[in-house]
Amino acid sequence: MNYRHRLFRTRLAFVSTALLFWTATGAAVGATPSDPPVDPGILSRIVAAAMKGDWAYDRLTELTDRIGPRLAGSPGLEAAVQQVAGVMRALGATVTLQPARVPHWVRGDERGELVVYPGQPKGITQRLHLVALGESGATAPAGLTARVVVVHDFDELKARASEIDGNVVLFDLHFDQRLAMNGNAGNAYAQGGVGRFVGPSAAAELGAIAALVRSVGGAEYRLPHTGATEWKEGQVPIPAAAVSAEDADLIDRLAARGPVTLKLLLTPRMLPDADSHNVIADWMGREKPDEFVVVSGHLDSWDLGTGATDDGVGVMAAAGAIEVLKRLDLHPRRTVRFVAWTNEENGGRGAKAYFSSVASAVDKQVAAIESDEGAGRSLGLLAAVTPESLVTLKPVAKALAPIGATVVEKRDDGVGSDIGALQHAGVPGFAPLVATQHYFDYHHTAADTLDKVEPENLRTQIATMAVLAYYLAELPEPLPRFKVEDAE
Ligand SMILES: [Zn+2]
Repeated sequence: MNYRHRLFRTRLAFVSTALLFWTATGAAVGATPSDPPVDPGILSRIVAAAMKGDWAYDRLTELTDRIGPRLAGSPGLEAAVQQVAGVMRALGATVTLQPARVPHWVRGDERGELVVYPGQPKGITQRLHLVALGESGATAPAGLTARVVVVHDFDELKARASEIDGNVVLFDLHFDQRLAMNGNAGNAYAQGGVGRFVGPSAAAELGAIAALVRSVGGAEYRLPHTGATEWKEGQVPIPAAAVSAEDADLIDRLAARGPVTLKLLLTPRMLPDADSHNVIADWMGREKPDEFVVVSGHLDSWDLGTGATDDGVGVMAAAGAIEVLKRLDLHPRRTVRFVAWTNEENGGRGAKAYFSSVASAVDKQVAAIESDEGAGRSLGLLAAVTPESLVTLKPVAKALAPIGATVVEKRDDGVGSDIGALQHAGVPGFAPLVATQHYFDYHHTAADTLDKVEPENLRTQIATMAVLAYYLAELPEPLPRFKVEDAE
């Protein structure tokens, strides 16, 4: 048993006696230095309340059924801003719409066909299942026709640099479902995703006239997965699309036998930046209303599905945390600040607007939580905190024991993209540790829809976020600052 475990045991031994000295509002009477810093009875009540009812699931249903897709710049996103603002006002929170200018990329027609390949019978072509990537450039209105060069990693791209000019590159990097099934979906996403994130830009630098990427995801339903691709400063975007994994395999098999020619039509447009908003809703603290624990998810989504799991579920889990505090009539010491971020998917402009609004008083941001890992069951917490803070967090894990969400995993490189800048400035960062085995089956596809959300799983995320937010906002002293490591 290590030092931390002993400390935990010691603190738990005080729980039963200390409880006698806590009033219903959580204020300590005759507290001694050994009393738990936050009433464990209240923490348990929060978890129990979060596991009852469907308030958040009903709000998620409204969001996805009435509005659907919510890409930056779309009318859907601004309708969602108004809808969520109304929901939070109805809870009695103080709502602010924080402006942010967001990129405005619009999907057009998209069609791909293999028109020449080895062994092709006369008159036969092969239709591909593909979708443009966010920020893709457009082909000419009549499309383009060119040879496809298949590469399986960036070393191969370099080795075959002389073949790229004037052709189309297919990045055939695999999402490794074995990693996902064993609880490491993030690693699978990073490994497979690098082809999408920077492949088209690298191909364009070598003279490619378009790029395809193998879809980054786990399911085998011939579904293409969209997502953002990054261009270098000043680079002119080439047409770039994700093909289904099955179609990537097909092209790879055919190209191994001889030249393959693709006909591709993509007509997306990049319009001028549009107006959007973060929805901020403050559940006022009773002692220190100007200190904040952020509890959040992102409101924008890709345009193919209805963004139920990415990230309607995160927004509604965060909203659900406030609803639980309202139901129990709990106002912790500090303000619990709900944020529905705009434009996480293709710009992060909402996160930037928020950070610049708080940067001069970032010490008042005492912690930040974001749920953006899909609709799986919560198994506990991811925490970008000091080692000592892990000890302080033990009562949260204990309160979550009835729902089996007791894992506290330390993450030195930070969690959650919208709260990244806050964490770089030293704000302790958190996310529910969510089961992600099947998150990437539907991620960024047309199948990211409400039926993929189990109400019970959503409740576990609400319980995790509500009890953690309350605890962090109620602690007599905030957790110490923790600077995350840079990803590079
Ligand atoms: Zn997301």
